[in-house]
Amino acid sequence: MKLNIFEEMKKYGHEQVIFNYDKKTGLKCIISIHDTTLGPALGGCRMWNYPSEDEAFIDALRLAMGMTYKCAVSGFDNGGGKAVIIGDPKKDKTEGLFRAFGRYVESLNGRFYTGTDMGTFGEDFVYSFKETDCLVGLPEEYGGSGNTAVTTAFGVWRGIKATAKELYGDDSLTGVKISVQGVGKVGYNLLKFLTEEQADVTITDIYRESVEKALEDYPGIKAVEPEKIFDVECDIFSPCALGGILNDDTIKRLKCKAVAGSANNQLAESKHGDLLHEKGILYAPDFVINSGGLIQVADELEGFNKDRVMAKTAAIYDILTEIYKISKQNNISTHKAANKLAEERIEVIGEIQRTYIPDRG
Ligand code: NAD
Repeated sequence: MKLNIFEEMKKYGHEQVIFNYDKKTGLKCIISIHDTTLGPALGGCRMWNYPSEDEAFIDALRLAMGMTYKCAVSGFDNGGGKAVIIGDPKKDKTEGLFRAFGRYVESLNGRFYTGTDMGTFGEDFVYSFKETDCLVGLPEEYGGSGNTAVTTAFGVWRGIKATAKELYGDDSLTGVKISVQGVGKVGYNLLKFLTEEQADVTITDIYRESVEKALEDYPGIKAVEPEKIFDVECDIFSPCALGGILNDDTIKRLKCKAVAGSANNQLAESKHGDLLHEKGILYAPDFVINSGGLIQVADELEGFNKDRVMAKTAAIYDILTEIYKISKQNNISTHKAANKLAEERIEVIGEIQRTYIPDRG
């Protein structure tokens, strides 16, 4: 590894990073725990064919940090964590791999709860469930709340509406041009909400079959090649694939008025949040607009109630409206405004927990 591990941990403010390798199954996994001020770390497990271990490590760090902010802004008493498995999600999944993963999660003794993310499904963790119960988002028949992608997509749709309201003073999406990058679990589910409102939708995906399925199921939408999505003239660009896609190269190309999508860590660096602000492109901070999935799985830890989950997810609309207001009032980027909300909550709740309470048990 070329990176300086502790320097990177210091840069992002991490508590703990665990490298897990299982020689029999070939599991290579990094579990990253960012900040547990509010409670046990919570965050999904991503499986991706990372071009290098450095990239997997940085992805784990950045994703875990995002979870700290997401938990804080959504009002949960959880910290941020994330796991990444290095491997091809289409080819490398085995029972052994996910059981080995489960054992490493169990070894953390409740410091880390995990579930699905890009490249993984609830069914994968049914194997892990044989080794640990520190899991959320399992299929319903295994006692979990099921696929989070639908709730996440619902929250993204609510966020897109709040963004349209901020842009145009009206939250109707009829005729609003929306381009969606990635029609996987979240992007595909988002299409239903957008087409029901007769938005003018353009999609892309690196998997041709995913594009074809979307075009077949939603005949009114259009598709472009993956590289072209940044050049599509639209009202709202909705990134629902990988992170880091808002960077020096792509921001120059964007022909949209706003960015509002599910992908985690959309900003390559936090300076890109400022760049969008300077260019007058309204950015819905990723960890706010995509918090529906977190709201669903964190609710499992409090005793799952679907109505409560949907009500809290719908309220992403209000949280984003508040963030847009803070951004305008202070002339700061929406990214910084969202961070401010999260950091204030972590600080206050962290401080009140300093009061000593005797154990009288
Ligand atoms: P997924 O793996 O099901 O879908 C991602 C899709 O993006 C895939 O179809 C993939 O082929 C496509 N893709 C990858 N690179 C691409 C590129 N360069 N151009 C176009 N398409 C590309 O994952 P998902 O669960 O839908 O998650 C999508 C994003 O949303 C991820 O960043 C994830 O971390 C985030 N997110 C997901 C959830 C959830 O509940 N699933 C919750 C919050 C955030």
